[in-house]
Amino acid sequence: KPHIHLQIEISLFGDDDRLIVAKDVTRLHQLELMRRDFVSNVSHEMRTPLTVISGYLETLVDNADDLPAKWQRAIKTMATQALRMETLIADLILLSRIETGEQEDTNTPTDINTLIGQICQDARTLSGDRQHEILVNATASKMLKGDESQLRSAFSNLVFNAVKYTPAQGRITVSWYTDADGGHLSVKDTGAGIDQVHIPRLTERFYRADPSRHKDTGGTGLGLAIVKHVLINHDGHLEIRSKPGKGSEFVCHFPAERLVEAHPG
Ligand code: ADP
Repeated sequence: KPHIHLQIEISLFGDDDRLIVAKDVTRLHQLELMRRDFVSNVSHEMRTPLTVISGYLETLVDNADDLPAKWQRAIKTMATQALRMETLIADLILLSRIETGEQEDTNTPTDINTLIGQICQDARTLSGDRQHEILVNATASKMLKGDESQLRSAFSNLVFNAVKYTPAQGRITVSWYTDADGGHLSVKDTGAGIDQVHIPRLTERFYRADPSRHKDTGGTGLGLAIVKHVLINHDGHLEIRSKPGKGSEFVCHFPAERLVEAHPG
């Protein structure tokens, strides 16, 4: 039987009056599924030819020494851009897989301390000679029930963003802590910060607070959309706090039901 999707809105007037509106959004829901399928198919179809192009371009780059400088430059630019496109396609495929979220097991106890340790190690490599101070503050012993590869994508997007949007020698603090409300993963930086008007829209695909800067950061514009959907799959939500000029903090909140003791028994 086909499902019918209803959207219910309840408005309260005075003490007892209510207005209840039920909207049939079945068609809208179908269109959304079609959009996801389409994006996923296009991304998969583009991946194969692109891999071939990148492969040949790399060979050309490696053997370009005898070519005129103008050609060398052209080949290098093509190789860089092909690589950028590969990253974009990979992110699109990842996002559509996470959005559908169907056959994934999001209930495996995951050691967040180890996970963020590894991510911060990669972040130090990304920082390179910009020498950010990257601190890990992981004291909570509890593990999180989830899908490790999805969590890795989400947390690394946040940590790598902090590196991308924080000037050289800035400080990045990654913390994992638990309390009565649940588990919290915070990524805090001393970077440029984000103007308040942009914050509600940051997790939309391709939304950028500062479009002029995205070219040199090399991002795909999909990072925070990926974070948002990973959190939805884990019953969590993302909180963004930021002050322009002071820095930003991105906090992933997970409900207490998702926490498990590291060493049961
Ligand atoms: P991008 O690939 O552009 O980084 P994201 O979805 O990861 O895409 O982030 C969306 C936008 O949010 C970025 O373009 C940037 O404007 C802003 N942003 C994300 N993280 C930070 C941060 N730590 N500091 C300042 N701005 C940020």
